Amino acid sequence: MNDDQDTGRALPERGVPAERVLAEIRALRRADAPTHGGRLFAYVYDPAVAGLDELTAAAHAESAHVNGLDPTAFPSLLAMENALVGAAARLLGGGPGSTAPDAVGSVTSGGTESLILAVKAARDARPEVAEPRIAVPVTAHAAFAKAAHYLRVALDPVPVDPVTLRPSAADVAAAIRPGTVLVACSAPSYAHGVIDPVAEIAAVAAAAGVRCHVDACFGGWTLPWLRRLGAPVPPFDLAVDGVTSISVDLHKYAYAPKGVSVLLHRDPALRAPQYFAYADWPGYTMINPGIASTRSGGPIAAAYATLRHLGEDGYLRLAAATRDAVAGLADAVRGVDGLRLLAEPESTVVCFTSTDPKLDLFVLVDELTARGWHTQPQLAYGELPASVHLTVTASVAPRVAEFGPDLADAAAAARAAGPVALPAELTALAATLTPEALTPELVAGLAAGLGLGGPSGGAPDATVNALLDAAPPALRERLLVEFVGLLQRPTH
Ligand SMILES: *Cc1c(COP(=O)(O)O)cnc(C)c1O
Repeated sequence: MNDDQDTGRALPERGVPAERVLAEIRALRRADAPTHGGRLFAYVYDPAVAGLDELTAAAHAESAHVNGLDPTAFPSLLAMENALVGAAARLLGGGPGSTAPDAVGSVTSGGTESLILAVKAARDARPEVAEPRIAVPVTAHAAFAKAAHYLRVALDPVPVDPVTLRPSAADVAAAIRPGTVLVACSAPSYAHGVIDPVAEIAAVAAAAGVRCHVDACFGGWTLPWLRRLGAPVPPFDLAVDGVTSISVDLHKYAYAPKGVSVLLHRDPALRAPQYFAYADWPGYTMINPGIASTRSGGPIAAAYATLRHLGEDGYLRLAAATRDAVAGLADAVRGVDGLRLLAEPESTVVCFTSTDPKLDLFVLVDELTARGWHTQPQLAYGELPASVHLTVTASVAPRVAEFGPDLADAAAAARAAGPVALPAELTALAATLTPEALTPELVAGLAAGLGLGGPSGGAPDATVNALLDAAPPALRERLLVEFVGLLQRPTH
């Protein structure tokens, strides 16, 4: 086999020199959305601190082969995990001198795992409940639905006010039933950046004897700094009576590389049912706080290095830069006719919608992409309109002045182009099709109609978004599975 044919094979016949392997990865990376530079408003969290990537890469390498499976074999990992949990507890209302002095926690692989474990702990603390349920605002992260699905727990959705985008404590109370093991709320919600009324929700949960988890995966590492900078952040953490657990993702606003979140419980008894222990086999006795058994120490060492290096002064400075960037982006949105902030920013999200039928948000998103700004479209849901989400990080601050003119320009171009006109048969299909009726032939037809899976790269994203937007959630889910299944095919 010649070298060219071999390119891209994970397992070549003959091993490839290290330098060339790295060059290949760098070449592949060029097709990616830009992880640095403040122009990607989702997926990545970039503080734009010189030298931090080098530090975290070195720290990751030091511990990449360390295994979190057994904390006694690798005390370095236990020490770093305990330090991370201690830092998160102190930041979030726990630790010495607080109202939650006995708070304990675990380092997990991400927000989803933290939420799954919070639900597992709540479920397994109530073995007498035959059909456990959780009450979750519809604006809470989809990972709660995933947890409910994986753990066979029923999910009772709590509506939100279409104006404030918040659930009311009364509606949470109404959703609590005899089998409810956990109430959830967000600080803030990912989609809109809105902080739920945590104190009131925790109070109704406590009155019912039910656990209350605060999902601060997104905001847990920004709200405390924003408050110190003078922002009116309401109580949302372990300082609130009735909050039994809280999660914060270090791979978001702690600016650590991917793979680290912290789940805190108010006391060790609340955490105990989170563990999985097993001794009924002839191998080693198993005791895991989380889902994985073998776990790399790399992400944990990288997170530890990030926190140590940035320090409180660093996070305060980054929070101030982020706050100013949020204000600037919100002003840019206010300055464009036909766009409206869906919520006044109260954390680090800017979320806006269109008030002009001629200004199609999905077309706007594509126009912004063409101008080098990568935003996140959100489909219409219930009474909530489609919207555009911007996760704002410190790296955006130097870019804010460029965003306003580009947004205005993109909006003008989107208006000129007009809304997405889906082929009539596709719109009709999306509106009437049920997931059960979705045969492989229909999917293939839809995919071909959109140019997906073909050599040309497919239809503009706006077309795909418009199709999904026209479909009810259950059909959206099926279509997503089919479409992504077309992308995830082995290379031979
Ligand atoms: C990101 C996020 C999650 C899920 O976290 P992952 O790290 O992506 O698994 C959960 N809740 C909120 C509010 C989030 O922002």
